[in-house]
Amino acid sequence: MTAPADTTIAILGAGPRGVGFLERLAANLPYLAPGVRVVVHLVDPHPPGAGRIWRFAQSPLLKLNSMAGDVTMFTDVASTIDGPVAHGPSLIEWVEALRSGEFTIPVDDELLNAEIAGLTAQSFPTRRLQSAYLAWFTRHAIAEFASAGGEVVVHPRSAVRVDELADGGQRVVLDNDERLDVDLVLYALGHSGATPEPEHAEFVEFARQNSLFYLPPAFTADADTGLIPAGENVIVRGLGLAAIDLVVLLTEGRGGRFVPGPEGVDYQPSGHEPRLFLGSRRGIPYHSKISSTLHAPRPEPRFFSAAIARDLENSRESLSFRRDVWPLIAAELLWGYYFELFTGHPDRVTTSWKKFAPFLERYRFDSPRLRAAITAAVPDRLDRLDLDALDRPLDGIRCASLDEVQQVVRSYIRDDLTQRSAPEHSATLGLFTSLLYALFDLGTIIGSPKWTARSRVEELGSGWLNYFSFIASGPPAHRLEELLALSRAGIVTFLGADTRVRAVGDRFEASSASTPGVIAARALVDARLPRTSLATSDNAVLRSLLDSGAGSEEIVRDSDYTGSTGLLRVAPADSRVIQADGSRHPRRFAIGPFTSAPFVGAFARPRTNAVSFRENDRVARAVLFEVAALSPSPASRWSGSSIER
Ligand SMILES: Cc1cc2nc3c(=O)[nH]c(=O)nc-3n(C[C@H](O)[C@H](O)[C@H](O)COP(=O)(O)OP(=O)(O)OC[C@H]3O[C@@H](n4cnc5c(N)ncnc54)[C@H](O)[C@@H]3O)c2cc1C
Repeated sequence: MTAPADTTIAILGAGPRGVGFLERLAANLPYLAPGVRVVVHLVDPHPPGAGRIWRFAQSPLLKLNSMAGDVTMFTDVASTIDGPVAHGPSLIEWVEALRSGEFTIPVDDELLNAEIAGLTAQSFPTRRLQSAYLAWFTRHAIAEFASAGGEVVVHPRSAVRVDELADGGQRVVLDNDERLDVDLVLYALGHSGATPEPEHAEFVEFARQNSLFYLPPAFTADADTGLIPAGENVIVRGLGLAAIDLVVLLTEGRGGRFVPGPEGVDYQPSGHEPRLFLGSRRGIPYHSKISSTLHAPRPEPRFFSAAIARDLENSRESLSFRRDVWPLIAAELLWGYYFELFTGHPDRVTTSWKKFAPFLERYRFDSPRLRAAITAAVPDRLDRLDLDALDRPLDGIRCASLDEVQQVVRSYIRDDLTQRSAPEHSATLGLFTSLLYALFDLGTIIGSPKWTARSRVEELGSGWLNYFSFIASGPPAHRLEELLALSRAGIVTFLGADTRVRAVGDRFEASSASTPGVIAARALVDARLPRTSLATSDNAVLRSLLDSGAGSEEIVRDSDYTGSTGLLRVAPADSRVIQADGSRHPRRFAIGPFTSAPFVGAFARPRTNAVSFRENDRVARAVLFEVAALSPSPASRWSGSSIER
């Protein structure tokens, strides 16, 4: 039982962000004077730490698209946080500690044990391994919190709403009607589902009337694809990570096997697979992860860095991503790519870096003069970086038949794999590194109030982050090799660019701009996550936050544009929820992808001063400061540095 004098906090959502916040709460708890006891209620229907996405109960075939050496839940020397840094193992270090017997986990699973035995820093771990790491991290965070004098109570339920109590307290109502009366609430709800958009609702109805299968945007791992019969044509709209998961589940997941073959890997069907027709706007899968290493050290940034970003922000009245920032990032990408090519592989170019670099400095990234200079200095077509072609490689290509589309897309994927794995193409890693740093450096001004409304709604979120994911956050290379094998085996067919789907007669029909051919199918899958939108979220606790006016959706407007980002407005300083009347909610905070705070949609990489760690720490300290303020003699209760509000 909780003593009445305790201060209570409800964390709604115990995925990686919810428990990351708990770890920061534990690290900062000693700043509260003894005598203030904090009890945390951790609410999530899924296991704490792993939550919904990373729960252990899912296919062992599904993987992270990050390497084991690139994932950590712990702050480190690079973290610029006010609270104490608390070192701990990255995913690969944790696995090494398991192997040496330093740590143990309460899971005995044959496949997991085999994975732990063979994992390297360059391996792409399964989601189940990440699940075990997150569960261990959570036990660690709870123990740290307890040893600092706090207590954690886990509630395996969904929260449906939060009510205001007359004394300022907050009442969290759970889906079993249980009520938790707490002082403060942190929403860490992650990615939610959404009610179908108009086109999806029409397809749902059309599928119902004609006994077809239709899956609107959803979490692929959760979707019931068992209803799709073997041999059935399935149109798959989307070629990102959700599509890769779907392909895995409908092929290997149905008993097929990848075996060594003359072209690397071949597919042996089980006979239970459907026939998959994959298409999207670009018509090609995301670029694979890179396995080469840099030959030259990373160059000093020339066109875009954190300092340049800050100068830009200071010198402009308004900031447009397309107009002001993208040309700088594009120039920086070319700089990073060609620096590695010219200095790491002088045998692949006809001139020196010293002579070539001035062209990059003088001409815009997309100018014909620069293109001509590149053509003259870089003989092999595969070594030339054209940012437009990199983004839309099928643009302008018209094939006479669907068969010809297969040749074009397969050849494109083979080239991509070569560019991303062959040592002589390590310039691609130069490009990746520049892009990654551009993402981090843009983070320094991403919260600026100077962005135009259009940049906030269209260019920064869906535009830039989608571009980043397409280039830098695609699947492991072996997934693309498997896609090629499935294509040769006739299980996967590529539809081409600008894929369109219509409901015709009693079937779905797909066409594309790459070929006149049309495919009819009785099954359609929209392979992507639902768009983030507070107004259409299927998450009851989020909807009630909006409906009650205690929270509000971020609407941005300027003289020529008004739009909604679909995100929950939070205060930049401490992620406090902003109410419908514009005031900061006195008792509620929110973190994660559904909020207006700058967001990087991935786990933290070690030693990169991750945005999520900084936000977790800032909000944990703001929450504890509030805890102190709620106590009888607030001034004496908080011994940390002052908190920005
Ligand atoms: C399908 C998918 C795959 C991804 N793969 C990768 C990857 O490979 N590598 C990478 O770096 N990043 C990946 N990401 C990015 C992802 O954003 C982060 O890895 C991370 O999961 C985000 O953590 P979170 O806690 O904010 O959200 P989530 O992981 O979504 O956790 C939120 C939690 O809130 C709970 N919740 C929601 N509503 C309620 C409620 N009403 N009451 C109680 N609890 C609630 C949910 O059950 C869930 O457990 C992926 C994201 C998705 C969606």
